Amino acid sequence: MPQSPPFIDLRSDTVTQPSAAMRRAMAEAQVGDDQYGEDPSVNLLQERIATLLGKPAALFVPSGTMANQIAIKLLARPGDDVIVGQTAHMMWFEAGAAAANSGVQFTPVGRGGTFTADELRAAIKPRGHIVLPPTTLVAVENTHNMGGGIVFPQAEAVAICATARDAGIASYLDGARLFNAAAASGLSLAELALPFDLASVALSKGLGCPVGSVLAGSAALIAQAVTARRRFGGALRQSGILAAAGLYALDHNLARLADDHAHARIIAEGIAGLPGIRLDLSTVQTNIVIWEMAPDAPDAPTIVAKAKAAGVLISALGGRSVRAVTHMDVSGEQCRQAGGVLANIISRD
Ligand SMILES: *Cc1c(COP(=O)(O)O)cnc(C)c1O
Repeated sequence: MPQSPPFIDLRSDTVTQPSAAMRRAMAEAQVGDDQYGEDPSVNLLQERIATLLGKPAALFVPSGTMANQIAIKLLARPGDDVIVGQTAHMMWFEAGAAAANSGVQFTPVGRGGTFTADELRAAIKPRGHIVLPPTTLVAVENTHNMGGGIVFPQAEAVAICATARDAGIASYLDGARLFNAAAASGLSLAELALPFDLASVALSKGLGCPVGSVLAGSAALIAQAVTARRRFGGALRQSGILAAAGLYALDHNLARLADDHAHARIIAEGIAGLPGIRLDLSTVQTNIVIWEMAPDAPDAPTIVAKAKAAGVLISALGGRSVRAVTHMDVSGEQCRQAGGVLANIISRD
């Protein structure tokens, strides 16, 4: 049973419940054995996402983490170096999977999740060097979760991928929130994905689906991804049940992402000026609000506990960093309320 929460849950955009209409679409989905390529709903979702991202082929996978792990498996070898933005999801939040599964190491560059082609160039370690681990992959996260949901500057993404190509380095777009990046920037998904060899999008974040991500790239890479997915245990059978939620979301939940962004602004503007916190409003571009508690103010876990007692769920990202995320299951009114609650808690201390 879905909880009927007394809480306004802003912990993540992954907490959404599939709507009644989405559940109906899932229940009525045409399905088949996807490992025989016979699931019409999965096939249609893959075709639609490939077209949206402007890539020849796409593959449904169970999670964003698996999409990232398949990308690393395909584009880097054990002992290689992978360059990412600071606090990249694949470096911080995948339980060490890149090291465990693919034997790679990360070099984080830039600040706040974004980086420049110059910063990439300065960090590239050449192949064939006697001591350096060869850089073979660069990954961009758009939007960047820990950077406050910022949109990665597209001109820089284009320059980064061109630099990578010149150096024989592959490029990957972790687009778990690429739909948010498109809504906020006005650029199409295809424009955002164009410079990259391989890209992923999540269905289970802002789009409100219960399960799933999709990888998109060349036919050759996606053929290899089919094998890697099987190796990782992510090849499914009648997964059209899940793909149907994605198809439903593409038709019904894309246009409303701008509402989530406006709701995040409401929360951010409700607290931004308060003493005791540092919140850069210029980072509030999509559905994520991240702020720092000042050294002399209560720490993040204290703020999270007080907010919970007042009916608002948010996340502590560390000792001083707090995150609130808007999504389709919280209204503008609830976000206004949550902003008020947070302002109260922060300014009372
Ligand atoms: C959530 C997220 C993922 C992982 O998605 P899961 O479906 O939770 O495995 C990957 N990258 C980014 C940027 C994310 O925010």
